[in-house]
Amino acid sequence: MDNFGQRIRSILSSSRDSLRHALHKSGARQRESTLPTPVLRLAQEPATAENPARGSTTEPASPSPHPITNTLLSRRSIAYASCGVVLLLGASAIFFPGCSQTPIHTIVPPGTPQVRVCLLEKRVRVDLSATQSPTIQVGNSAPTAIELGGSTVPVALTASGWKIGETPVGAGELRINPASEGSVSIEGHAYRGRYRLVPRPGGKFDVINDVDVDGYLMGVVAKEMFPDWHEEAYRAQAIVARTYAIYVTRTGAADASYDLFADTRSQVYGGIAGETAKARAAVEATRGVVVAYGPPGEEKIFKAYFSSCCGGITQSSADAFGDPLEQPLTAQNVGSLCSASKHFTWPAVTIPNAEITRRMRLWGAANNAPEKTIGDVVHVDVLSTNPFGRPASFAITDSRGLQYRLASEDFRLAVNTDASGGPRLLSSFCKPVNDKGAVRFTDGHGFGHGVGMCQWCAQAQATSGMPHEQIVLKAFPKAVLVHAY
Ligand SMILES: [Zn+2]
Repeated sequence: MDNFGQRIRSILSSSRDSLRHALHKSGARQRESTLPTPVLRLAQEPATAENPARGSTTEPASPSPHPITNTLLSRRSIAYASCGVVLLLGASAIFFPGCSQTPIHTIVPPGTPQVRVCLLEKRVRVDLSATQSPTIQVGNSAPTAIELGGSTVPVALTASGWKIGETPVGAGELRINPASEGSVSIEGHAYRGRYRLVPRPGGKFDVINDVDVDGYLMGVVAKEMFPDWHEEAYRAQAIVARTYAIYVTRTGAADASYDLFADTRSQVYGGIAGETAKARAAVEATRGVVVAYGPPGEEKIFKAYFSSCCGGITQSSADAFGDPLEQPLTAQNVGSLCSASKHFTWPAVTIPNAEITRRMRLWGAANNAPEKTIGDVVHVDVLSTNPFGRPASFAITDSRGLQYRLASEDFRLAVNTDASGGPRLLSSFCKPVNDKGAVRFTDGHGFGHGVGMCQWCAQAQATSGMPHEQIVLKAFPKAVLVHAY
C-alpha cells in the first residue's frame, strides 16, 4: 500500500475530529479477463465539448500540500490559462503557445493520485506531435530532449527497437514526458500527464497515459454526462467516477502495465479535447472526495459502478456480475425517477434462436465459458429475479436439454456479442418470450447494467434540488463520503 492509500478522512462523520481511516485494499479482487463491461455510456450522441468560458483568471491554485478540510462544500480556487497564455505548474510559470486552440487548463495539484489509462492497444506505429520539445526515456536510459520541429512524426517499434521518425532511439519501454501539460499529442489527441509506449508480444505496443486522477476525470465526466445536465449531477458523477478509477487502480493485477481503458470497458476518456468547463468545475469542486463503505473508522472504497438508466429498478453487483454481496451495491426500487430517459422503457426486441446460439458460442469462446459448445438454443427463461422483480439470472436451454445459467449481465453481454447492427438488448431488465424459432424480449426497461448510480436518476434528483452528496449516498445505500486526498 502506498502513501496515498495509507489514510483517508471521514468528512461526514458525526465527530468533528476528522477521523483518519485506513483505505484498505483487502477484499478487493484481481482484475478478471472475463469481467463484464462495467460501465455503459449514454445511449444518445456523446457529449460534445462545450465552448469553455474563457478569460477570467481566478485565484491561483491552493499551495500544496492541501489541508484536508472537514467540509465537502468548500470550493477550491481554479487557475485558468486564459488567452495569453500562462499555464501555472506549481510555483513556476510556463508560456504555452498556440492560444487560439489552447483549451482552458485547470491545475491538478501535486499529490493527486495517479491512474494508468490504456489509450491505444496493439499498435505498430503511432503519430507523435508536440508544441514544445518533450523528453523521452527508453528503458533505463537518461532523459533525452527530442525536437520534433512542430511536425507530426511517426513512432514505430521495429525488431531492433524504437524509431522516432527515422532515428533509432533504443529498445524497452518508451516514456514520453511533455514539457508542459497537454503539449504532446498522440494520434492528434492531447492528454494531461505523460505517456508510456509499452512493447507487447508480436512486435506491437500499447500506448499508456499516466495521469493524475483528477486530470483524468476532467476528460471523463463530460463524456459521461450531457452538456446541459445539472452541475450537481456532474459533481455526483465526478465522485463516483473518481472512486471507480481509484478502486480499479488499487486492485488491478500487480504486473499490469495499465489499469483503465479509455472507453466503455472502464470509463469514456476523451483527454483534453473531451473536457468542458462544467466537467472541470465538477472535478475541482469534489476534489479528493470518494464514496466508501464499512464500519466507522474502517471504511473502504468499493467498485462504484454507474450506468445510464436503471429503468426503475437497479440491480446488485452480485446479481449482475456475480460479485460478493456489498451493501452499497444492492438493488433499489426507484420507481419512475429516471423516466425522462428515452430508454426508461423500450420496445420488444426479437432475436432468432440460431442467432442467439451463434452469439452465445462466440461469447463462450471469448470468455472460455461452457457456452462455447452450447447446442442449438431452444429456450430462454428468467431463472431468478431480485426482490423488486428485475431478472437476476437467466437459463438458456439447448436442443440436447442442457441448461446454461448466466448472471444477468453475462447474459446480456452474451446475447449482444457480435450484434453489430443487429438486434440487441439495452439492458437485462426484460422478459423473454419464446416464440417459434425466436426469442422476443418484452417489457424492456433501462439502458446499461443498472448497478450503482443511475445517471438519469442523478440528473432527475439534481434538477429537483438534491445536492450531489445526497445523490451519491442515495445511489449507494449505507455508504459515506470521505476525503481520500
Ligand atoms: Zn434510474
